[in-house]
Amino acid sequence: MSFRSGFVSIIGRPNAGKSTLLNSILGEKISIVSPKPQTTRNVVRGVKNLDGCQIVFLDTPGIHKGKGLLNEFMVKQAVSSIRDVDAVVLLVEADRTVSEDDLYIIKALERLKCPVLLGINKVDRVDKRLILPIIDRYTKMYAFKDVIPLSALKGEGVELLVNTLSALLPEGPKYFPDDVLTDVPERFIAAEIVREKVFIFTREEIPYSVAVTIDRFEEKKEVISIAATINVERDSQKGIVIGKGGAMLKKIGTAAREDIEKLLASKVFLELFVRVQKEWTKKPGALKEFGY
Ligand code: GDP
Ligand code: MG
Repeated sequence: MSFRSGFVSIIGRPNAGKSTLLNSILGEKISIVSPKPQTTRNVVRGVKNLDGCQIVFLDTPGIHKGKGLLNEFMVKQAVSSIRDVDAVVLLVEADRTVSEDDLYIIKALERLKCPVLLGINKVDRVDKRLILPIIDRYTKMYAFKDVIPLSALKGEGVELLVNTLSALLPEGPKYFPDDVLTDVPERFIAAEIVREKVFIFTREEIPYSVAVTIDRFEEKKEVISIAATINVERDSQKGIVIGKGGAMLKKIGTAAREDIEKLLASKVFLELFVRVQKEWTKKPGALKEFGY
């Protein structure tokens, strides 16, 4: 069977349990600290590797950054920013009536072309008999591909959600190597920082198709030792990133290392490699949108 992969956003009102769900899916606590206060670009939050499938979860700016009632405009913006994902999970709470936030989000979902799954979270808080009427209410509002009652906190229904999601994803490449981005959240940060420096110093000569993968991330006694690869599309881009006598790569590396050191509060040894890797551009829409 062919490999499937895709980008997935979990959306929902603040407090719906999105972070808890993601932690449950990825099997650990992920508390990513964005290196920049709020970038408009979506950021990879975690990668779930399954047999024959890779799901890349994205952090969607906007929808879950809001406090209290979301405003419609903000939701629309956030939803339009995820129009190129391969699937969306809308997470709602079993112990709350449909909120105005939910209504905004559902309305904005109409513009999406990808499948949307409804996750009814926190079922541990309610009488099981109350779940069907809730499902009924939501499914009348939107044609969800599937509805999965779950408890992100207790892990119930999470596997089903992941499997259902993977079945919806299109054929695609493995965007990240198996061991990358599954465990240590600091890896995301390191990769994001390197990528940011590539953009800054090459002044957009390197397009969004650049992707940074972390090949090694070792916490030693005195130093964190990191090896990262900057994946570009073409030889000419490789040349730009490396620069004359390696000057550009050195500049990128020094600036990135200083930032990573600040963020991780540790001395960092950073090794950078540049590789021409064509698969990264296979999905122009999603990849461009999300910086990969
Ligand atoms: P987010 O704002 O959508 O990311 O929500 P969080 O993941 O931060 O969760 C908000 C609150 O809901 C936290 O106190 C969680 O512990 C709680 N929570 C999340 N999932 C569940 C669940 O399945 N059951 C229960 N009882 N509480 C949950
Ligand atoms: Mg959260």
